[in-house]
Amino acid sequence: MANSYELPYDPSGLNWSASDKNVYTRNGGANQKYLEEKLASLSGGEDCVALGSGVAALSGLFFALLKTGDHVVFSSVTYIAVYRLFNELLNNKFNIETTIVDTSDAEKVRAALRPNTKLIHIETPGNPTTGISDIKGIAKIAHDAGALLSVDNTFASPYNQLPLELGADFSVESLTKYINGHGDAMGGAIIGRKEHLDIIRFQSQVNLGGAISPFNAWLIMRGAVTLPLRMKQHNGNALKAARYLEDIPAVRFVAYPGLESHPGHRTALLQMSPGFGGVLSFGLKADHDTHNRFVSNLKLITSAVSLGHDESLIVFLGEKDERQYLYPEEFHGGFFRFSVGIEDSEDIVGDLEQAFKETGLSI
Ligand SMILES: *Cc1c(COP(=O)(O)O)cnc(C)c1O
Repeated sequence: MANSYELPYDPSGLNWSASDKNVYTRNGGANQKYLEEKLASLSGGEDCVALGSGVAALSGLFFALLKTGDHVVFSSVTYIAVYRLFNELLNNKFNIETTIVDTSDAEKVRAALRPNTKLIHIETPGNPTTGISDIKGIAKIAHDAGALLSVDNTFASPYNQLPLELGADFSVESLTKYINGHGDAMGGAIIGRKEHLDIIRFQSQVNLGGAISPFNAWLIMRGAVTLPLRMKQHNGNALKAARYLEDIPAVRFVAYPGLESHPGHRTALLQMSPGFGGVLSFGLKADHDTHNRFVSNLKLITSAVSLGHDESLIVFLGEKDERQYLYPEEFHGGFFRFSVGIEDSEDIVGDLEQAFKETGLSI
């Protein structure tokens, strides 16, 4: 835990913005460096920059890579901050051209390309619909056009999906979620080639100040030790919960890439292994308030945002979501995003069952 380091006898020749030696923790520090080495290795990448949150990693990547006049194609279903960055901030403030595309259809990505397309950004599975995009196919489309591909890999985690091996140029993780895994720290990371990450480190970490705290880097490093054990349990529990929900008459739909009924299941099988992560979405054949009553009747599963916690978390995304029009039809009546935890699967399914009964819904 240090924010600065002892200087040499004559410090006057030092580059105060250097990240390759210990000077000041915003430039880089010991905990941060160990975490970056671990994440680069875990993701099969050459280099990594760890920042203060997943959004710091995403905005850091976009800021360092893009300039006025460049064009970006991005998934219609992404983390909300990505939507804001491309739909409101980077376009309006810096005249970066942006096109929102349903990237679950790779041909739509190809059709959206322009001569100045610099970056394609996808999220798969996407938050909150679990939509799947074909990483390999879109990487080829990007590279044929001289563009780069970044993939938000947060829902899958490196245990289930390795975007760089599938041809992506960047894998982005919200470390806040599965990699930390205990719901008690925030962080984000970009993994890719050194030529790009040197720029991101200098611009977005040192000069925009998105650095991660040494304590959070340490917590995330410790949490990451059990990533494979936790993911195995998340994968199994989520599949069990999804199959259980699929058979409930009061359930309007269940979206989980591991279900044969998911429109992206075949693509998911090609790029995700051994499992499909711990997040699923579902809706009830019921009105707005019944969705809230159902959640209030849960005892083990907590109503809270975020995901990838060891504990099960659920959030009701109502009909007023401004991006509703971008979601598939079945999501329009309001729905739950359910981050299935690592508790005993019988306890999770049991909690859902007692909440269905208590709410007066048919099971
Ligand atoms: C949570 C999340 C983010 C943002 O991460 P923070 O650590 O909250 O900033 C980005 N992408 C996805 C897919 C997420 O779920």
